[in-house]
Parts: sequence; C-alpha cells; structure tokens
Amino acid sequence: ACLEAVEQVEGQLGCFVTLTPELARAQAEAVDAQVAAGAPLGPLAGVPVAVKDNLCTAGVPTTCSSRILASWRPPYDATAVARLVAAGAVVVGKTNLDEFAMGSSTETSAFGPTRNPYDPSRVPGGSSGGSAAVVAAGAVPLALGTDTGGSIRQPAALCGVVGLKPTYGAVSRYGLIAFASSLDQVGPLAQTVGDAAALLDAIAGHDPMDSTSLPEGVLPCHRALDRGVAGLRIGLVRELVEAEGIEPGVRRRVEDAAEALAAAGAAVEPISVPELALGLPAYYLIAPAEASSNLARYDGVRYGLRVDGADVEEMQARTRAAGFGPEVKRRILLGTYALSAGYYDAYYAQAQRVRTLIVRAFERAYEQADLLLGATTPTTAFPLGAKVEDPLAMYLSDVFTIPTNLAGHPALSVPFGTDEAGLPVGVQLLAPALAEPSLVAAGAVLE
Ligand code: GLN
Repeated sequence: ACLEAVEQVEGQLGCFVTLTPELARAQAEAVDAQVAAGAPLGPLAGVPVAVKDNLCTAGVPTTCSSRILASWRPPYDATAVARLVAAGAVVVGKTNLDEFAMGSSTETSAFGPTRNPYDPSRVPGGSSGGSAAVVAAGAVPLALGTDTGGSIRQPAALCGVVGLKPTYGAVSRYGLIAFASSLDQVGPLAQTVGDAAALLDAIAGHDPMDSTSLPEGVLPCHRALDRGVAGLRIGLVRELVEAEGIEPGVRRRVEDAAEALAAAGAAVEPISVPELALGLPAYYLIAPAEASSNLARYDGVRYGLRVDGADVEEMQARTRAAGFGPEVKRRILLGTYALSAGYYDAYYAQAQRVRTLIVRAFERAYEQADLLLGATTPTTAFPLGAKVEDPLAMYLSDVFTIPTNLAGHPALSVPFGTDEAGLPVGVQLLAPALAEPSLVAAGAVLE
C-alpha cells in the first residue's frame, strides 16, 4: 500500500532520487516470516521509512543529489539505516535533497526540485525536502533527514510535519556523507511527535564506528510523550520571534504556542539571547570550511564520476567542474578562502571564537529556562525559483535554526497550524544537550 501511495504522489512532487521496491518487499517479507515464526518483533516492524540520499545504503545508489555521485553504490549501510532495518523498518527509497545538503529549498538537487504537497508551486524547504514532502503527503509515515544548519527542522516547518535534530553525537554519523562534520546530525521526520520519538529511539546510541558518538544515551524519548510541561520553565526567545523579516503570520502562531504551553502548566517567560544573531555569519564560514575539506575526496579516482583529461590534474579539474553544481562550488571556494594562509585568523578562527560565544550564551539562557521557544523559520514555504538567484536570501531561511547546530544542542520543529494563506507554520523548541525527552514532552503538548 505504501509503495502504491508513493507512486501516486511521486509524479507530482518528486520526493525520491531512487525508489527501492524490491528491497522494501524483501524486508517486509522478512518481517512476515518473523510473525509467522512467532519470533520477537523489532519496535518498527513493518513500518515503511524513506531515507535521505546522503545516507549510505548497501548496493543502493547514494547520490547526495549530485552528478559526481550519480553512479555510486556504497558497499555498506549507514549505522542509522542499519539500526532501522534491525528494528524491522522497511526502506522504500532514497529521498531528494539539495546537492550535498547545501541549501534550504531542495532546488540545488542535480535531479530536479521536490515540491511542497500543500502547494506544488512552492518549495518543501531543504535540504531534507524529499523526506519532509513525502511524509507531509502521507505516503510514508517516517523518514530520515540530516541537519547541519536546519535541514531537518526547516523543511519540517515548511511542509507541516515534525522534525527533530538530535544532540550532536546522539546518532552515529557513520555512513552519513559528510558536509560539515562538526555540525551534521541524522534525525527523524514524522507526522507526529510520538512517531519522531520512536524513530529517534531506534537510531540513537553509541557507535564505535563514529569517534564523535556519545558514550551515554539520551533515551528513550517515547517514554516522555505523556509527561506534559507542568513546572517546566520555557523562555520565549525575542530574537526568534521579533526578528527582522519574520512574517506576522508566523510570529502570531509562535505567540499562540507560548500561550498553549502556559495553559498546559509551563512557566513561559520572555528571554533575550542577542548572540543568536551571530550564528549565521559564523556558520557560513565554518560550514563551507569543513565542506571544502570534506569534498576534496571527490577527485575522480576514489568515488563516482570521472571525466578524463591529459593528466591527473586535468582529469581532477574536469571531474569536479562537471560533477559539482554551482552552490557546491560556491561553498568550496568560500571555505578554501576562509582557511587559506593569511585569511585563516581573520575568518575561520574568528568564526570559531563566535561559536564559543554562542555556546556560552545558550549556557546562560539555560540557567533561566529549561527549554527555549521560537519560530523555526522566518517565513512559510516560498515559491520555487524565488530565492535561487539570491544566495543570501536563501541562507537567511536558516537564521533561526543554525545557532543550535553551532552549540551541538537538540531542537524540535512542530507544526502549529497555518498562516492566513493556509501554509503550515512550524514552531521550534530548543533544549540543552541530551534533553530530547523534554523536547518530546513539550512538542506533544502542541499537537
Ligand atoms: N541551509 C543550510 C545550508 O545551506 C543548512 C543545510 C543543512 O542543514 N544541511 O548550509
């Protein structure tokens, strides 16, 4: 039924790079066999999931929506994928993303854009746009996304679904194709907070294959679902509500969410964290710097595409010129510049100092509040093409989500109604490291 539902929406929305019906059937049959044998079932037995196409799947193309990896099939599964399958989940396909997860609209994919099920003339957000759109369309209940600066929460908000970025290190990055290694995290997109919690519980936990994987667990999250918010202190963050450029319809919904949490027993107080405004400029030095280094491995020798040349240098130049799209090239150039001798201290090192300021600002905020509340994005879903010519306008889509990644903290986007035009609005809950259960408890109150 799920494969049929996917086929029905796929023509209009373009959520997938690769569909995996044979794999899905084989995994579903394995679950059936367990049922027939009376064997114990995993927590996600038989549940279909979609997987963002920057997570490795053994034998199944994993492209990062880039021409440079279009023909590449990894020999192994990412830990998050392997854990889902071990939990009984059924992988129905690999979802579309902005090329190498660089973007906020899923328009930089080499294989064409994904569309928003609420209004197919609009973007689903990005970079996990395929995962968000297919869950929003109701075709697949759960999907994996990745969030480096907002790529789970921003598309979740624009598509009216739940998206959770876990604490850095809570979910293994083994088999996640690296964009910015100190920021990347794998996490769930789902129709409900409970589903997102169940998915997170299945993929989280220590992994010896990822040296940044945390030794201790955060979980389980699903047990916090009915905990409520009575007695919790929630800070309504001025910089995430009153910022310049925020749409009035978005702001109103966040204020309504604050009232709903207060009505459920939380102590909601306004709070100001001015350092959050420094997140975007710091991120656009640190993330491209790490990307320029991570993407050096696509040299025409080790992975994917090769375009021949007279010598190795020309082969590499031609391969990279043909294989990467314009946004990826812009990031590589920005990052290489920021790391180069003579500019390193002024840009990269300075951005790292700013990152520390943001971490300290969050520490101070969490002395006053258990959770923070604000908008996920300044606007609702925008029309396709509206920001492709203006990278800075596109970068601003993540101004509210990026600080969390710089601090390594978890955050949740929950759909909370629509604006006047009927487009979904997401509200964002932020928490200190490993406080995912509190996010789940508060998020469930807003459903
Ligand atoms: N939109 C941001 C960027 O382009 C964040 C992307 C992400 O989280 N992967 O870098």
